[in-house]
Amino acid sequence: MLSPDDDKLIARALSMRTRAYAPYSRFTVGCALLCDDGEIVEGCNVENASYGLCICAERTAVVAAVAGGRQRFTRIAVATGSSPPAAPCGMCRQFLAEFLDADKDLVVLLANDAGEKVETTLRTLFPGVFDKAQLASGQRGEGGPA
Ligand SMILES: [Zn+2]
Repeated sequence: MLSPDDDKLIARALSMRTRAYAPYSRFTVGCALLCDDGEIVEGCNVENASYGLCICAERTAVVAAVAGGRQRFTRIAVATGSSPPAAPCGMCRQFLAEFLDADKDLVVLLANDAGEKVETTLRTLFPGVFDKAQLASGQRGEGGPA
């Protein structure tokens, strides 16, 4: 059972599907990212005739949040039309992990317009993440191998 706040976050993500620009895949995705200051930043997928330029809803939300001065997130709701509700792709898992503190996790709420809801976490979806600490430990020079 999700909290009323989680249901509100999911409702925002579901609503954002209507703003998706997905003329090629016709797979619309909406996203709502809860920042640690309580602000909710939304996103939707944006496709391009040059397919490689397509960007997922999760990354548009993170980019908008960072551009707005926010880099700490506690929950993300992702809404699709698929059943069961789709989880973020691998690229988005890595992108979200960039903003995860070492001792924290990000709650990931997956939903669809049929009312299915799944609660998981980024660390559950993405074990063995390559993060800032791993990058630093492998860099030549300070702190890492020569
Ligand atoms: Zn993605």
